[in-house]
Formats: sequence, C-alpha cells, structure tokens
Amino acid sequence: MSDLRQFAQNLTDFLEYKKEEGFQTLDISRETLAALKPAPAPKPAVRPVQSSAPRSAPSATQTPKTSVRVTGKTLEEIAGQIRVCAACPLHASRKNTVPGEGSPNRPDIMFIGEGPGADEDAQGRPFVGAAGQLLDKMIEAMGYKREEVFIANIVKCRPPGNRVPLPEEMNACVPYLKAQIALIRPKIIVALGKTAVQGLLQAEVAITKFRGTWCKYEGVDLMPTYHPAYLLRSPGKKGEAWADLKAVLAKLGKEPPAKK
Ligand code: URA
Repeated sequence: MSDLRQFAQNLTDFLEYKKEEGFQTLDISRETLAALKPAPAPKPAVRPVQSSAPRSAPSATQTPKTSVRVTGKTLEEIAGQIRVCAACPLHASRKNTVPGEGSPNRPDIMFIGEGPGADEDAQGRPFVGAAGQLLDKMIEAMGYKREEVFIANIVKCRPPGNRVPLPEEMNACVPYLKAQIALIRPKIIVALGKTAVQGLLQAEVAITKFRGTWCKYEGVDLMPTYHPAYLLRSPGKKGEAWADLKAVLAKLGKEPPAKK
C-alpha cells in the first residue's frame, strides 16, 4: 500500500474510532496527524518472530506480520524485556513502559485497556489518570480493591498524542500480553473499549453493539465493555457498562456489594 493510501487508511480508522466514541466534531492536532503518518520500519531490539516487518501499518483486518519473542519466564522478567523493547516505533517517544500491575496469582479479573496516556507514560503505571480514577470506582463497585485484579494494556508504550495504536503496533506488542495472561491465569478478562477488543480478537467491532457479548481469548472468558474514558464523555452509557460488570460477577458466582 502506498504511503498516501496508508495515511488515508490510518486517518479513516482514527475518525471512525472517534465517531464510535461519540465525537461529533474533532480538532485534530498537528501532533496527532503526524503520528498517523506511516511509520518507518523499526529496528527491533527484541527479535521478531518474522523478520519481514512491513514498512507501513496493515489495516485492522489484516493478519499480523510482526511479533516479538517473549523470553521472560516471570512477570518481572517480562517487564524487563518490555523496558528495553524497540519492536515498534512507539518506543522512540515513550518516557516509561507500562507493563501492567496488580494481583499476579489467578485473580478473578484482568482488565485490558488500549494503551498508556500521558499520566501512565510519566509514572510507568496503567490507568492512573482520569480514566483510571473511574476504573478504580468500577473495580470498587464490583467489590474488589485495585490490587486484587490485574490491569494491563494492549500496547505497553504511549502512542504519541494519545492516538489510537496502529494495528502493527498492537500486533508487535500482544505477545507480551499473551505471556502475561499465561502466567497470571485470570478467571475473566474484561476488555475496555473498541481498540482493546480489536487488538485482542483481530476483528472489526462496533463496541456499542458488541459489548456485553461473552467471547474467549487465550482460553479465558472475555467480556467486552466500554472504555472508562468513553464513559467519562458519555456518562449515559455507564448503566450498560455496569450491566457488563454485573455479568462478570455473576459468572464468578458473586454479587456486587451492598452500597455503603
Ligand atoms: N487508557 C488506557 O487504555 N490505558 C491506560 O493505562 C490509561 C488510559
């Protein structure tokens, strides 16, 4: 695909995503536009499984071409590998990697978001900004403490300007998530938002229709629901998200705690 076509495809994906998030109009910064341009081929520090990395991002429906080989055998070792990873262009602009955090021993729930924002990039921790504060409330409403669940993202480095991670960036990073899931063995995965669902299931979804539908990922039951950042902008959707979280509790044989 030519660079111009690829740019148009990336821009279309970005606008469709924002439309689905509820935006009617958008101010697109120069930084975001620049980030949507096809990236130059990365120099991988972690050996890719296939060495023929595409120069431009495939569309969301294409098969992944680039991947990393995860050698870490513990969560700490995986985090160490992520810290020096340069398998995709996102490594160039990150301050910190954000591998994820929480209970490592078969927690009831693993939440998976899209990717770090500015606060997460600054602290090296997932969901610590405004969306994270809402996620904390959602976790608490379900009867858990933040440290009792595991929280991670599809991509471990911040996309510049908080743009949506490109399919090739997600595909490059997802082996880390798979290795984390295999070690943590969560009982249920909650995928937060369209990008997380797409990155995991490799399928175009309309999150407004797809949320609440049980799926499987790496043999684990997966519940897709809205991203907390979307819920901050569309509080009217909180009821649907809460229904999804109650379905998760029901599958675990639990009920939400009585409100204090
Ligand atoms: N949004 C995400 O998807 N992940 C984070 O860690 C923070 C915000």
